[in-house]
Amino acid sequence: MLAYLAFAAVAAVADVAGAVIVTTAHKRRHAPLRYFVAAGAGFMLAAAFVRMLPEATQVPHAFLYVLIGYFGVHLFEHTFAPHFHFGEETHTDAMLKRSSGWLAAIGLGVHTLFDGVAIAAGFMVSPTLGGLLFLAVVIHKIPEGFTIASIMLAAGYARGAAVAAGGALGVLTLGGALLTGLVAHQHVGAALALSAGVTIYVAASDLIPEVNREGGPALAWTVFGGLVFFIVADWLLSEFVSH
Ligand SMILES: [Zn+2]
Ligand SMILES: [Zn+2]
Repeated sequence: MLAYLAFAAVAAVADVAGAVIVTTAHKRRHAPLRYFVAAGAGFMLAAAFVRMLPEATQVPHAFLYVLIGYFGVHLFEHTFAPHFHFGEETHTDAMLKRSSGWLAAIGLGVHTLFDGVAIAAGFMVSPTLGGLLFLAVVIHKIPEGFTIASIMLAAGYARGAAVAAGGALGVLTLGGALLTGLVAHQHVGAALALSAGVTIYVAASDLIPEVNREGGPALAWTVFGGLVFFIVADWLLSEFVSH
């Protein structure tokens, strides 16, 4: 019954794992993480358009919730936080103030809260949707923990604080799942619509620009790899998981 909490916990651990990678691994070992960013973008957009939106639009004003989710992430990640983007933080000049570190953590925290909302709302609709949204979240979680830890390091914080920031994102993911489990079942559609807007923003406005900035055909093709992974996962889940 509370399977979504277990899945949200796994996603939370991935946040910490991403933070640990940036604080321990040698620099050249970071490169493969870009492929999770690219595959995540493809998978998340497919999940949002093909599975989340059709389910969410059964509630009134569903697309208004989608819009609020979309611009909510923009508001918290890119206006209150002075500097934020996915990937390794190399602009140390933009990180002179230590507050830029925790402001970016708060901004990213709003998005991670909705990672948990998406997992829980998905499982409340069906195990198939829950499984798909868990994959959509977990595939971008390691780069997410990596991002916040590298921002904290660039802002002058110690390794322990950088890993703790990844842990805080994990706790928020669990919190989002817990809160969604408490809301009445008729509001699940609204929760799904909000998190669809969040998912679309993260995939299309945070991750895809990162893929294009980094450049390279292999990375660009990996976005389509994410789409193929979605098709396979969607088929396997609907075939072998009971509804
Ligand atoms: Zn930067
Ligand atoms: Zn996330």
